[in-house]
Amino acid sequence: MIIPKLGLYIHIPFCIRKCPYCDFFSEKISSKEIVDKYVEALIHELSLYSELTSNRLVETIYIGGGTPTLFSPKKIDQILNAVNKFFTISADAEISMEANPGTVSSDDIRNYREIGINRLSIGIQSLNDKFLKILHRIHTRKEAIKVAETVSKYYDNFNLDLMHSLPGQTYADAINDLKELISLNPRHISWYQLTIEEGTAYAESIPSLPDEDVIDSIYIEGYDLLKSSGYHHYEVSAFAQKEYQCKHNVNYWTFGDYLGAGAGAHSKLTINNKIRRQSRIENTCTYINNLLENQPQEIYLSNEIIPEQNIPFEYFLNRLRLFTPLSINEYENYTGLSFNNIRYLFEKYSEDNLVTIEKDKITITEKGQLFINQMLEDFL
Ligand code: SF4
Repeated sequence: MIIPKLGLYIHIPFCIRKCPYCDFFSEKISSKEIVDKYVEALIHELSLYSELTSNRLVETIYIGGGTPTLFSPKKIDQILNAVNKFFTISADAEISMEANPGTVSSDDIRNYREIGINRLSIGIQSLNDKFLKILHRIHTRKEAIKVAETVSKYYDNFNLDLMHSLPGQTYADAINDLKELISLNPRHISWYQLTIEEGTAYAESIPSLPDEDVIDSIYIEGYDLLKSSGYHHYEVSAFAQKEYQCKHNVNYWTFGDYLGAGAGAHSKLTINNKIRRQSRIENTCTYINNLLENQPQEIYLSNEIIPEQNIPFEYFLNRLRLFTPLSINEYENYTGLSFNNIRYLFEKYSEDNLVTIEKDKITITEKGQLFINQMLEDFL
């Protein structure tokens, strides 16, 4: 078993208000004081991991949320300084941060770049004011375009998030949105279908969504459009220009290690040939109090070694999302398990044309991409 690459994820669990489709952990931002306390607690948490990761290089950093751009460049700088103090960061680390177009000025965008953020991921979601309103987004089309244009001046690498199959959205609406987004020339696009997630406002009152045949047409045309515009489809919802795949997310999908910090953050760490998963409590005040009162063990909701029999499922849950070929060595190195135990399943998938197997390389076919969930059930 190898020690995989390590990424660091930092969760900023605050938003202006909750979007009705969102199931990420975030709370309404209540005061400046809570931001200061949260940063203090977060830095304390980061300091606890310096020994655990002392002989490892952090290859990527991702500041997600919530809405990290509710934190000023000065606050983010304070967090990055702590990260540099407690970890060894690769010289060419990808350092991403999520940005909400309703919470950043042009000066902020420039200042985040100056403090070391080298990739911004902007939650545009739609470029049509009608749908931005339906989604309860806090920004307008005009603001989103201005932010994307400003970001393109200061950042070589940036992602735009766009949703489709929104309540009341037609085929033409969805394709126009995608065309306009492509014209902003991001290096990376996350283009994903609105789904109704448990615990969200939409789950309580389900909006009327486009019919299946409309959604199918949006996918077919959207994939063609992205491909002909130079975006390589490398993961279920991710499209990138050459060399601009999101390294942090690729590390998740290849079963790499990641250390999470912050309320609600998750970790997956390989330690002494065992794989450990951690999740942290989704309550900002409790998170802060436990850390500042020196009870760090109380911030975990779970902190367990993955039983060996669950590892293949966990591995493929991530790895099958990625469309790059998978090598048998890669599976064995990252899981410490023998591929021979599951070879029969892949031979069956190959007969059903869900994958191709060539020497030690397995590639998921276009048909297979539609049957990922069915394949995963075999590993449960
Ligand atoms: S801004 Fe983003 S994280 Fe916050 S509620 Fe909306 S979708 Fe969720």
